[in-house]
Amino acid sequence: MAVMTEKEIKSIVEKVLGVMASGEAEAGAWDSTQYNGRKLVGIFSDMNEAIDAANRAYKAVRAMSVEQRQKIIDEIRRLTREEALTMAKIGVAETGMGKVEHKRLKHILVADKTPGTEDITASAKTGDSGLTLIEAAPFGVVGAITPSTNPSETVICNSIGMIAAGNGVVFNPHPNAIATSNYAVDLVNRASKNAGGPEIIVCSMDKPTMDSAAIMQSHPLIKLLVCTGGPGVVKAVLSSGKKAIGAGAGNPPVIVDDTADIAKAAKDIIDGCTFDNNLPCIAEKEVFAFRNIADELIAGMKKAGAYLINAEQADALSKVVLVEKTNKAGKTVKTVSRDCVGRDAKVLLAKIGIEVSDDIRCVICETGFEHDFVQHELMMPILPIVRVNDIDEAITLAVKAEHGNRHTAHMHSKNIDNLSRFAREVETTIFVKNAPSYAGIGFGGEGHTTFTIAGPTGEGITSARSFTRQRRCVMADSFRII
Ligand code: NAD
Repeated sequence: MAVMTEKEIKSIVEKVLGVMASGEAEAGAWDSTQYNGRKLVGIFSDMNEAIDAANRAYKAVRAMSVEQRQKIIDEIRRLTREEALTMAKIGVAETGMGKVEHKRLKHILVADKTPGTEDITASAKTGDSGLTLIEAAPFGVVGAITPSTNPSETVICNSIGMIAAGNGVVFNPHPNAIATSNYAVDLVNRASKNAGGPEIIVCSMDKPTMDSAAIMQSHPLIKLLVCTGGPGVVKAVLSSGKKAIGAGAGNPPVIVDDTADIAKAAKDIIDGCTFDNNLPCIAEKEVFAFRNIADELIAGMKKAGAYLINAEQADALSKVVLVEKTNKAGKTVKTVSRDCVGRDAKVLLAKIGIEVSDDIRCVICETGFEHDFVQHELMMPILPIVRVNDIDEAITLAVKAEHGNRHTAHMHSKNIDNLSRFAREVETTIFVKNAPSYAGIGFGGEGHTTFTIAGPTGEGITSARSFTRQRRCVMADSFRII
């Protein structure tokens, strides 16, 4: 049983801070095969071996009763709650991104609200020609690619859903979050063993690379690819020739019209935007505010912990948080600086020489629509605000800013016509009205949670049933009992 004492946590945090201070916290500096001297279970150096082990796990899961699968899931939930703080601390220390308390809450959310075996249902059709049964069967071995932004949360959320559906799983996690991801893989395996399941029920790599991802994508035993990450990786799995679920990038716009409760809207937006320092893909990324309420909204945001910078300061900050790179086509493109993603507002402001207190949790600024802060998915607590004249302009610009990702959008309004129009026109997978963004994944809102929101491939708020394939069994002319 692996609950850490305060002393152990202090020791690991000190060790981690030492590594970070020495500049070694780059990918690869972390030992992804052991934690505090305990060997992590299910971690392989060879993707082919990991897939073989996941295939053995799949066979073991298939042979289990649903009740037995659910026991394993219940134990995953228990351990996740118990070790949520540990994973939150490792996650922040390894990636340098996010907030420990928010990451802890994200793990609790995963433990409490990721659907288990109850999500797998069958249906039947009866008539003059007999009975037809439609069941949700496992795919087999799932190859899952996971991000650095919610690393252990995604591994655990995917594991619960994929095991509930009867699959085996092999992960190729983000190299920058490999220790955190593999801690979660080990947790799932410990849960399986505790509940009488196989010692290895999910697998991962010690050093995941593009090459190991490529092996996964072409291996004949992998029957389903589930990819959570940016546009590059989603495109890669969708080009693999295999069935793939793609959960890709977002750039969620927020509209605030002049019927909204402005004080509440201001607080909700800052709460959502700053949750885990804006790492969740659903978090508020840019605001379109009606001109006649914009001043009040900005005042409310400042009251809620935002720091307003002027246009000159915004341009200076933009040069720090976005860097130029040459893409594969030889074109110069701007991309977010990995040193800034998920960092505290205070740290970002210090980069342009502005010192603020710890109470400041968000940087806000007024910009035009074309500003980089509006156009790029920053994943850091910087929120541009664009003034608009009316709902027509608000919707037109917000839809453009979402870039057709069909991911997430938000609106604060009491005008049901405006709300309905934006929801219809933006066509996102998640649309949150009058609440912080995280209500859209079941945190303070109804409905189950997921950390894999599959907009491009249409599964939406994924759950166990997303990782199944339909099978039909027909009994002709019999078994209709009425
Ligand atoms: P990322 O795209 O940098 O990496 C995701 C994973 O893909 C990593 O494991 C990475 O190593 C791998 N990868 C990248 N390119 C690849 C390729 N061509 N082939 C194979 N593997 C490849 O993502 P990140 O920075 O960790 O996460 C942030 C991005 O992910 C944001 O765009 C965010 O919106 C998105 N995201 C989406 C969801 C969702 O549910 N839709 C959830 C979390 C993150």
